[in-house]
Amino acid sequence: MSDNDDVPFNRDFPLRPGVVQEVRPGVRRILCDNPSPFTFTGTVSYIVGRGKVAIIDPGPDDETHAAALLEAVRGETVTHILVTHTHRDHSPNTARIKAATGATVHAEGPHRASRPRYESEKMSSESGADRAFRPDIAVRDGEIIEGSGWALQAVATPGHTANHLAFAWQDRKMLFVGDHVMGWSTSIVAPPDGSMIDYMASLERLTGRSEDLYFSGHGPEIPDGPRYVRFLIRHRQAREASILHRLAKGEADIPTMVRAIYIGIDPRLTGAAGYSVLAHLEDLVARGIVATDGDPVIGGTYRLAVS
Ligand SMILES: [Zn+2]
Repeated sequence: MSDNDDVPFNRDFPLRPGVVQEVRPGVRRILCDNPSPFTFTGTVSYIVGRGKVAIIDPGPDDETHAAALLEAVRGETVTHILVTHTHRDHSPNTARIKAATGATVHAEGPHRASRPRYESEKMSSESGADRAFRPDIAVRDGEIIEGSGWALQAVATPGHTANHLAFAWQDRKMLFVGDHVMGWSTSIVAPPDGSMIDYMASLERLTGRSEDLYFSGHGPEIPDGPRYVRFLIRHRQAREASILHRLAKGEADIPTMVRAIYIGIDPRLTGAAGYSVLAHLEDLVARGIVATDGDPVIGGTYRLAVS
């Protein structure tokens, strides 16, 4: 969400859907034609290696995109499919690519929430989750997935989803970051699917790694990833400060906080903004800084805790 201009966002991404672009030697990318306020110009799938390759994030349930991916690797062998996380714009096309290639599917695991649902949340449906997805091989943090001429290390990066992985091509100092870090916008962190506590820890984690070139699930590559991540961390800290600033004026519900904090937001994103605020509140309640009656939920009213 582009509510703050403190982060050096980059929305310059002229790649057209279905066009194969070799963005670095051994890294090709193809854009799926699924643009939206959440996906920017669409989901970017990556092909890693040459001859015997891995596909990272086959994308949404989209026959045209699957055909474009398969056309891009015509004459080559797809040995691995890697999935960063189980949102519907990333994992459903895995089934098509696996059926066509016989490649093994590597991911952290099936979709799961970051925490159990509270009673009042039991009725809400999570439209973004791909609940049908199952990896062939469940990948743990730090494991190295080796192919022909490439090796990718799984980097657990929970927060956007509980099962989010980034994949590090360590020799090349490249990191495929999925939706954990995006150059065009901040990532959505929406409880109970996502967790701000986990997300912040996963951002911190990347600042200590040596990879500097990031490839995201949406939008352009990020040339100095760790520096960009430090901007994101400061941005979230500023967001937390604005929430506390608003609550210092008196108790408030989430829509009131969104109106106070997200000036000029795209109206289609106010729902997501509310969940981002909830993610911060959940964290603040856990730390004893903010109080609410009952569980921290989207419909709750929040106030500063009496210290
Ligand atoms: Zn995505």
